[in-house]
Order: sequence, then structure tokens, then C-alpha cells
Amino acid sequence: MRKPIIAGNWKMNKTPSEARELVSALVPLVKDAACDVVVCTPAVDFAAVSEVIKGTNIKLGAENMHWKESGAYTGELSAAMLKESGVEYVILGHSERRQYFGETDVTVNKRVKAALAAGLKVILCVGEMLADRENGVTDELVALQTKIALKDVSAGELKNVIIAYEPVWAIGTGKTATAEQANEVCAVIRSTIKALYGAEAAEGITIQYGGSMNAKNAAELLAQPDVDGGLIGGASLKAPDFAVIVDAATKG
Ligand code: PEP
Repeated sequence: MRKPIIAGNWKMNKTPSEARELVSALVPLVKDAACDVVVCTPAVDFAAVSEVIKGTNIKLGAENMHWKESGAYTGELSAAMLKESGVEYVILGHSERRQYFGETDVTVNKRVKAALAAGLKVILCVGEMLADRENGVTDELVALQTKIALKDVSAGELKNVIIAYEPVWAIGTGKTATAEQANEVCAVIRSTIKALYGAEAAEGITIQYGGSMNAKNAAELLAQPDVDGGLIGGASLKAPDFAVIVDAATKG
């Protein structure tokens, strides 16, 4: 049985004092969750959030990291910096990084390998643009992104990888993929993992859906057999909404 995971991606939202307030409200609401609960926050919030979640079931995640150990990479963060700040998970290859910051499949792969080598858990994002879906290449594209991101990642390391299927046209737009669409592409990702690592790895890997998941639509999406959780943007900024999604994952 795969344990579902609900992860919030706060993006460029919440100052440290706002972060403290949000996560403090979340702690009692998700304390009995049967799924894993993660909040991926801006780096300036790590200290405040770490302090609040100490001894709770909420884990801390980052939204990106660089693949180099250190050096002249102004504005970037290394795996060691994340680890020492209490971070356990890192989102890599988010479509906003790909769209606005020049992230490519190759640089995503470098980040994935560096994060895994440092002992972080990776939330690897893949997903098609609207034009790709309209051109009928969603499956091929998502399989390709997955393959390149996981190049030279061992079967052992794969145990620390979660894949988030995030159709770009559904992120922050209020347009959710239907439950069938979400399940279909998550199943494509699972069969890509099967081709690369075998049936056991494919059955074991956690695959999330992300893209305008909210308190209203989460239950239907999370009930799909190949959807093992959610990566949540907008709805993760409201503790009660995020808690409803966590609850839906517990039942889904
Ligand atoms: C995301 O940023 O990963 C995301 C899924 O955002 P939203 O839920 O706002 O669409």
C-alpha cells in the first residue's frame, strides 16, 4: 500500500510572521492525518516553520535547490543549506521554474541527483502545456520529462522520489484536470517507472496530482487508483482548506 502525501507549495507567499501564523493554525487541524503532510515554503520561512512543527506530523519542504555543493551561484541554495535548516523534502522541476527561470529537463536531473545524494526526498514535477495536450503529445512528453529527470538515479534512490503530475494549464488557473485525466497521466508515469525500474518500483512509487486541487475537488481526484496524493498551491495558503484536502487523502 502506498501512503498518500499531501504537500503544500506556498510559492512566493508568506513572510516569516505570516508563515508562523499559517502553520500554527494547521498543526491541530492535521494532527491525526493518516497521510504524510508537507509544507514547502520560501527559504526565509524555514526557521519559523521548523520551530512550530517540531514534534508534530508536519514535515518541511523547500521549493527548489541548486545542484552544486557551494560556490558562485548568487541567490541559490544548496542541499546542505536545506538539510541544516530542517528541510526533508524539495520540489524540483516545478513548471514555474521551467517557465520563468530557464529550468530544463537536464538541469532538473542535476538537481534531482544532488538532492538524493544529500538524503533529501524529492517531489519531482512533470506536466504538459495546454498546446501539448491539444497536440495529443501529453503521454510522450510526460514520459520524456520523467525519464530525463531520473537519468542515473538508482532504484534505491528512487524510493526517495515522489512524482507530481502537474498539467501546466491547471496550475493556478482554477481549471482542474478531470479525475480521469489526472488518473490517466499518473498511470502513464507509473508505466514509465515500470519500464525503467520494474514492476515493484512502479507499484511502490507515490504519484501526486497538482493543479487547482482544492477542498471541493480533492476527494474525487484522490479517489483515483493511480493518484496517491496532491501538490497544492493556492489552497495550501488557507489552513482549513488544506486540512480538508489532507482529510480527503486519508479517506481516498
Ligand atoms: C502548484 O503550484 O504546484 C499548484 C498545483 O498550484 P495550484 O494548486 O494553485 O494550481
